[in-house]
Amino acid sequence: MKVMKFGGTSVGSAQRMKNVAQLIHDNNRNLVVLSAMSGTTNSLIEISDYYAKGNKESASAVVNILRNLYTKHIGELYATEQKKKEMSDFMETVFHEIMLLGAEPYTDNIGKAIVAKGEIMSTHMVTAYLEECGIKAQLLSAFDFMRTDQEGQPDMKYLHDALIPLIDSNPDAEIFITQGFICLNHEGHIDNLQRGGSDYTASLIGAAIRAEEIQIWTDIDGMHNNDPRFVDNTRPVPQLSFEEAAELAYFGAKILHPTCVLPAKFAGVPVKLLNTMEPQAKGTIINNQLSEENKIKAIAAKDNITAVKIVSSRMLLATGFLRKVFEIFETFHTSIDMVTTSEVGISMSIDNTDNLSKIAEELRKYGTVEIDRNMCIICVVGDLRMQNTGIESLVTDALKDIPIRMISYGGSEHNISFLIHEADKQKALQALSNKIF
Ligand code: ADP
Ligand code: ASP
Ligand code: MG
Repeated sequence: MKVMKFGGTSVGSAQRMKNVAQLIHDNNRNLVVLSAMSGTTNSLIEISDYYAKGNKESASAVVNILRNLYTKHIGELYATEQKKKEMSDFMETVFHEIMLLGAEPYTDNIGKAIVAKGEIMSTHMVTAYLEECGIKAQLLSAFDFMRTDQEGQPDMKYLHDALIPLIDSNPDAEIFITQGFICLNHEGHIDNLQRGGSDYTASLIGAAIRAEEIQIWTDIDGMHNNDPRFVDNTRPVPQLSFEEAAELAYFGAKILHPTCVLPAKFAGVPVKLLNTMEPQAKGTIINNQLSEENKIKAIAAKDNITAVKIVSSRMLLATGFLRKVFEIFETFHTSIDMVTTSEVGISMSIDNTDNLSKIAEELRKYGTVEIDRNMCIICVVGDLRMQNTGIESLVTDALKDIPIRMISYGGSEHNISFLIHEADKQKALQALSNKIF
């Protein structure tokens, strides 16, 4: 069984849904994970924000825009009047439920229940289309198996124990469809796996059922060697190790949600990144194979980074100074991405600044604190084992005209990272591409 995940653009119109139906119907009983149609989650967030502010009128206006849009999609997707009617009625209940939720006093749970409707609509639409085409498709509700625990982490045991019987109890199903992104929390309320989290759903399911493969279908032919939104002439990378893919996803390669690599890696299930618009393209395979030797494979960038530096003469020859500093970040639930040290100071980068003022206040007890905002991490990924000489000089040479705040190397054998000003990001990415590829 394969797990096949289709993102928002891949199910973004009636025609795209028809293409997806063709791609998923091979001779395997695949399990298909769908995102909401592109734009829908944003609209649902807008609706719940209006409800949160008590602005029901604006919420209704956005509901009406969605209603018209989905009426158009239904008209285009189904051939028979019966299916058109069935699906229009279904959508009407969904929009009615959204309005009922909006009539209650607003809570976060209500907001999340509204946002979950996008995946519920797309999966019902595709399932109904497959049925109309004579394919036995079984829709599985993610709420029946995807749950998070008290720490907000996916409950893998529950997922495995709940999903396998659901699959087994539908022996006639030719294909299974389910929602990405949405889940229940440990209290049984509707929740989600964060924006872009459908990739995570696919990976969790693939690991839980030990799928033969996890396919992430999107709007580009695999992981490119640089960010195609900012750099010209990028090319797909044929193969990545799980570690390389995790670094790239974490450091900004939007094609993959950062959390999505780990479950697949631990279960040893290969992940393929494929293009719905160009299904015959090879894409990228992520597996346990050794990296191409002595090569840089790809570059990614992560914005909105803040650099924090603490300088203290008390650090000189003192033991326990690093521990004290890191403990402060831990106390305020802030994870650190990059770290560099000298005899008298430590520089760190963070992306969550919610508690920055409290962190800085604590740090000032130990030394002088400097904060730089609007920074960006440039992450270069490939085979950077110690014996491979020359790679660092190639990379730093490409960046010779760019002011660099931090360099991190040696934390793993496949990554060298630079902290620069966000304003220099595009120039840095393009310079690296020109030099390396
Ligand atoms: P989906 O809606 O299918 O989940 P996303 O928009 O989340 O799709 O991810 C696909 C997008 O990721 C691409 O359109 C591309 O612009 C962007 N992207 C960023 N970095 C990369 C990269 N290194 N390789 C491929 N795509 C990338
Ligand atoms: N629909 C959700 C989002 O837009 C989840 C996803 O697409 O992965 O974030
Ligand atoms: Mg995505």
